[in-house]
Amino acid sequence: MRLSRYFMPTLREAPSDAQVVSHQLMLRAGMIRQEAAGIYAWLPLGLRVLKKIEHIVREEMDRAGAIEVLMPTLQLADLWRESGRYEDYGDEMLRITDRHKRDLLYGPTAEEVITDIFRAYVKSYKDLPKNLYNIQWKFRDERRPRFGVMRGREFLMKDAYSFDVDEAAARRSYNRMFIAYLNTYARMGLNVVPMKADPGPIGGDLSHEFIILADTGESQVFCHKDLVEMGAPGDVDWDSDLQPLVEQRTNLYAATEEMHDEAAFALVPEDKRLSARGIEVGHIFYFGEKYSKPMKATVAGPDGQDRPIHGGSYGVGVSRLTGAIIEASHDEAGIIWPDAVAPFGAAVINLRPGDAAVDEVAENAYQALIAAGKDPLLDDSDQRPGAKFAAIDLVGIPWQLVVGPKGVADGTVEIKRRATGEKQTLPLEQALKVITA
Ligand code: ATP
Ligand code: MG
Repeated sequence: MRLSRYFMPTLREAPSDAQVVSHQLMLRAGMIRQEAAGIYAWLPLGLRVLKKIEHIVREEMDRAGAIEVLMPTLQLADLWRESGRYEDYGDEMLRITDRHKRDLLYGPTAEEVITDIFRAYVKSYKDLPKNLYNIQWKFRDERRPRFGVMRGREFLMKDAYSFDVDEAAARRSYNRMFIAYLNTYARMGLNVVPMKADPGPIGGDLSHEFIILADTGESQVFCHKDLVEMGAPGDVDWDSDLQPLVEQRTNLYAATEEMHDEAAFALVPEDKRLSARGIEVGHIFYFGEKYSKPMKATVAGPDGQDRPIHGGSYGVGVSRLTGAIIEASHDEAGIIWPDAVAPFGAAVINLRPGDAAVDEVAENAYQALIAAGKDPLLDDSDQRPGAKFAAIDLVGIPWQLVVGPKGVADGTVEIKRRATGEKQTLPLEQALKVITA
């Protein structure tokens, strides 16, 4: 992409109502624009990051055996009357009436719709387990939309739903999602801690929130320090028993405020006790027959008897992650994107557009990075060098390759790694090798 033809409206200063650093930086980097409270337009740079996050989430879901569907944003109120949630959900639900006076709603989540789809087709335990997911916009009329996309009203969520014949099988489905979540966040360069969360009315131990530690987090969390950098298992045999891997992470203390148990936390060695703020970027839980019973989603078991399926649901805050990653990775100059989610893999900064020799080297560098799959941005604008450096630092592109008249005369370019600030002056060929390594 050539900056001169692109649309990247960076701002020198953030609007004063942006309270947290990720919101400020997303506005300054020209990633999003607020259209109404908690409702955003995604500008090109923001959309690129959103798509990369979405892509990682999709790949890891597919790898773990989940199957993608796409459910509508608008849902029939009648389905929610069946499950009993239409009245319960309260003011967070955006209710809509169509021209035939039918009650619709903008889906805040999709348990009812997926259960309706499932029950129409699946009749036998032999067709289980199944896990269906979608990545779709949700609407929740949050009382206090804030922190930009981190608590929006319209937001993008990945929601997966598992269907199993009994609780033991549901636990296996749960474990697959647990491991898939660890892998998903690790690929985005995040340290995420799974924490025991409120299981709701069903009870049990199958409810975890996935938390990034950050000072601006909305919840207070408590955990054993060793969990913070434990890393992810990576690809596993998804049909094997994943319980030991899950236990490795769940045997150490980790809980959100609602589930916090001071007495249990006190048993963690003092130098390992961590109490911090956290951002919830995912939530998985098992809810048994909560929807299948009232909505009559049953399958015939081996004995021929129909029984309600055991369900679980698994959410990832896809749009929240764009902000959460920035909270976890930035400095005074701006965003520091992990390579996997960066809007561009590298920026070629031409310090003197119009100078034939400089243009030629910049163009060669740009074409070589395209060929290497680095998806580069070429800054061919006629801004001052200082303004160019500031803008590319601000938007957080992981590599900068700077082409100026002095270097061109010497046969070199300068490269900079955004995360460390480390600079190297090298001949172009070598510089490209470092960036594409
Ligand atoms: P929270 O406690 O933050 O309101 P939740 O418990 O309501 O979250 P879930 O219903 O489990 O969240 O939704 C799955 C994921 O969707 C959450 O883990 C979070 O990352 C994301 N999410 C929830 N609400 C919002 C929102 N208003 N804006 C952006 N992302 C959200
Ligand atoms: Mg909520």
